[in-house]
Amino acid sequence: MFTGMHNRGYYLRPDRPLLFSRPPVPAVIHVQGLIFVAPAALIDGKARAAQLSVSITESAAELFETHGIRPGLAVVIVGDDPASKVYVRNKQQTAETCGFHSVQHALAADSSQESVLALLTELNADPAIHGILVQLPLPDHLDEQLITQSVAPEKDVDGFHFQNIGKLTAGQTEGAFVPCTPAGCMLMIEDQLGKDLSGLNAVIIGRSNIVGKPLASLLLKANATVTITHSRTSDLPAVCRNADILVAAVGRPNMVKGEWIKPGAIVIDVGINRIQVSEGGKIKTKLTGDVDFEEVSKVAGAITPVPGGVGPMTIAMLMANTVASAKRAANISD
Ligand code: NAD
Repeated sequence: MFTGMHNRGYYLRPDRPLLFSRPPVPAVIHVQGLIFVAPAALIDGKARAAQLSVSITESAAELFETHGIRPGLAVVIVGDDPASKVYVRNKQQTAETCGFHSVQHALAADSSQESVLALLTELNADPAIHGILVQLPLPDHLDEQLITQSVAPEKDVDGFHFQNIGKLTAGQTEGAFVPCTPAGCMLMIEDQLGKDLSGLNAVIIGRSNIVGKPLASLLLKANATVTITHSRTSDLPAVCRNADILVAAVGRPNMVKGEWIKPGAIVIDVGINRIQVSEGGKIKTKLTGDVDFEEVSKVAGAITPVPGGVGPMTIAMLMANTVASAKRAANISD
């Protein structure tokens, strides 16, 4: 029997201070014959992203004062998907707060492929634009791959161009753009466990090109032992129970249960799901992750909430990539 602080991050890296904040109410929890005190620490992505935004704003101001360069971000949205509109608005607002030159191109849902490609050609050639983001998903009649590969690699702040993916896969992140969501996840993991993840098992649920695969490259670069799981993985709970670091990027509400978690693991919930809940006799839409927060927070060492976890970090990393791009374009070292 063990009684004590339930904090795997602490046991994994007793030499390193923990940066996450604990929820105020401790609890006594019984897991697999062990007694744990205190629920998981909350990894506050919103606060971390706000901290990053301050330094990005300072970098942008310095770039303008010393070199007359204002980082420029262009966001292209095609169609009326409500969730995409919210994401684009948040990105644009953050860009403005950081002092960027921020432009949005909202195209009609029935825009032709030629018109989208023509806009990208224009933005690729515009010296005031350092970062271009095409909000996904695109309407079905558009070729998503052709469009994402038509963004100039040196302005591809989303990190979706094959040139940037290739560099990341080869472990060469210097001078490449790392996709924003995996980059944000990685920063939160490093905050908990440090930059060297030697000896730790990381399990990612989801093998998408925008989250699962690039995150695997980043975790491998940090020396973690990485397993990517997906819809065809057999006995997923057993694989997850081996994870010191578990990342869920699936798109299935509350799929990951408490019994899937190794006590003390770091759990990063990438999923954003809109579910209907009944509140005061009214049906409301609520955001929830892929992780059953209530169950998992009783077993994990630290966990990201949804909302307020990975989402804000994704936007902060987009801003960081845009400033980096503006500096690279002017041959200014970081
Ligand atoms: P995707 O649909 O491209 O990929 C989903 C992955 O989940 C696939 O690899 C699939 O094999 C796997 N999967 C599906 N069902 C499964 C199951 N039952 N068991 C195990 N694996 C299963 O999705 P995506 O674009 O990677 O996004 C995943 C989630 O993350 C979505 O909810 C999305 O909204 C969210 N997301 C959030 C952010 C953010 O900034 N927070 C960014 C990107 C994506």
